[in-house]
Amino acid sequence: MSSMTMRITPATINKDTIAAISTPPGEGAIGIVRLSGPKAIDIVEHVFTSTRGRRLSSGSGRVFHGVIRDGDETLDEVLVHVMRAPHSYTREDVVEINGHGGAGPLQAMLELLLKHGARLAEPGEFTKRAFLNGRIDLVQAEAVIDRIRAQTHAALRAAESAAKGELSRAIYTLHDTLSGALARIEAAIDFPDDDLPELVDDALRGELEGCQARIAELLRTSETGRLVREGARVAIAGRPNVGKSSLFNALLRDTRAIVTAHPGTTRDLIEEVINIRGIPVRLSDTAGLRATEDEVEQAGIAVARDAFQSADAILFVLDAAHAPWTEDAEPAKELLERGAPFVLVLNKTDLHPGQETPRWAEQARVCVRVSAKTGEGLAALEDAIAGLLLGGAAVPVEQALVTRAHQRDSLRRAQDALARLLSHYGASPEFLSIDLREALTALGAITGETTPEDVLDRIFSSFCIGK
Ligand code: GDP
Repeated sequence: MSSMTMRITPATINKDTIAAISTPPGEGAIGIVRLSGPKAIDIVEHVFTSTRGRRLSSGSGRVFHGVIRDGDETLDEVLVHVMRAPHSYTREDVVEINGHGGAGPLQAMLELLLKHGARLAEPGEFTKRAFLNGRIDLVQAEAVIDRIRAQTHAALRAAESAAKGELSRAIYTLHDTLSGALARIEAAIDFPDDDLPELVDDALRGELEGCQARIAELLRTSETGRLVREGARVAIAGRPNVGKSSLFNALLRDTRAIVTAHPGTTRDLIEEVINIRGIPVRLSDTAGLRATEDEVEQAGIAVARDAFQSADAILFVLDAAHAPWTEDAEPAKELLERGAPFVLVLNKTDLHPGQETPRWAEQARVCVRVSAKTGEGLAALEDAIAGLLLGGAAVPVEQALVTRAHQRDSLRRAQDALARLLSHYGASPEFLSIDLREALTALGAITGETTPEDVLDRIFSSFCIGK
C-alpha cells in the first residue's frame, strides 16, 4: 500500500460517541472535556447555552462562548470548539469544551454528558479512533504517546520523526516493492504454461535483496531507538568515599533533563533521569547500598554483578589516590574481563593530578579521569557513557528509527522470511509466494494493517484516558 493512510473497513468505525476529561487531573487554569463520535455535537447542544444565541451545529472549526447547564444549575462558563468530521483528530465529529480546570466542574460536566448519551472513553480511545479511521497509522499512533513521555529533546525529535511518518514511509516503500514482487510471482503461478520465465528473474532477486538490505539497515537503528525512547540505566558503583555521590551530583548539574523523575525509587537507591548526548539516562547512585558493599568485598564480583546486571552501563569509581594498586580495582578488572559495559572513573584527580591510569584500563580504553569537585573530565565521561551506550553511533533522529520491540520483532520476521525466500529462489513460485506473504504480514503489523486485535488493545490501553 503506497499511501500514508490506511484502508477503512466499515466494521472498524465506531458508532457511539465517547467523552473524557483530556487534561491532567488536579487544578489548572483551564481543563478540557473532549467528545468524539456521531452524536458529539448533538449531546453538547443539549447542555450548552451560547452567549450569542448561536447553535453549535451552525459551524465547524468555530469556537462558541457560553455556559454548560444541568437543568437550572450552571456548571461552568466555557468555550466550545466544534470540529466536524473528517477535519478532526479522530476524523469523527469532535467537540472540545474548555472549562475552568479543577476536578469538580470537569467531572460534573463529564457526568452530564454521559447522562445525555456519551460513553466514557477507554484509555487511548481517541487516538485509537484516529488510527481505525485511517488518519494515522500505528507507528504514528505510538508516536503520540512517545511525544508525551519524551524525556530528552532527542527523544522528542525521534517521536516527531515517527509522527511525521519517517518510519512508516520506509515500511510502505518496502511493502510496495514486496507487493509488486508478489504480483509477479503469482502471475507465474497463474500462467505456468505460458512462457513467462522472466517473471522470476535476477532483476526481481536484486529487488528482494535490496529490501533485505534496507530491513537490516532499519534493524541497526533499533538499539539506539530503544535507548532514546526508553532511556538507559547507568549505575554508579565503587567503595565508600571514592566520590560516588559527588559524581552523581556533578553529572546532575552538568546535564539537563527535561524531567527529574524517580527521586529515590527505593529507600536505598537514588535515581535521577539525566540527558547524556540526547539519551535519557536513568542514573542510579548506589551510595545507599553500603550494607551490601561489605558483601561485595567478600563475595567479590558476584554480588556486584547481580546488583548491576540490569544496568546498560556501570560507572566504576576509584579514588585516584590509591586506584592503580589496591584490590579496589579488582572488581572492575573482573567486570571488564566478563565484557560488562562499564567505564572506570578515576576520581579526585584534583588531589592527585599525577596519578597514573591502571595499565589494564588504559589498554581497554575504558578509563576516564575526573574530578567531581572541579568538574574536570565530566564532558569526557559523558562522551564515554554515550559511546558505550550507542557503540559509537550518533543519535539518528531525522531518519526512520525503530524504537519499539514489536517493530524490531516484526522486521526480524520479515527478514527471516526474505532470507528463506532467497535461499530457495529457484524453487517453484508457490513456495516463494508463501515467504513473501509472510514478509508482507510482518511489515503490516508495524503500521497496523495486520496487527492482531489483542496487540492493538494492549498498545492503546497504555495510553491515558482522554488521549
Ligand atoms: P561516596 O561514599 O562514594 O558516595 O563518596 P562521596 O561522594 O560522599 O565523597 C566522599 C568524600 O570525598 C567527600 O568528602 C567528598 O567531598 C570528597 N570528594 C568526592 N569527589 C571529590 C573530588 O573529585 N575531589 C576532592 N578533592 N574531593 C572529592
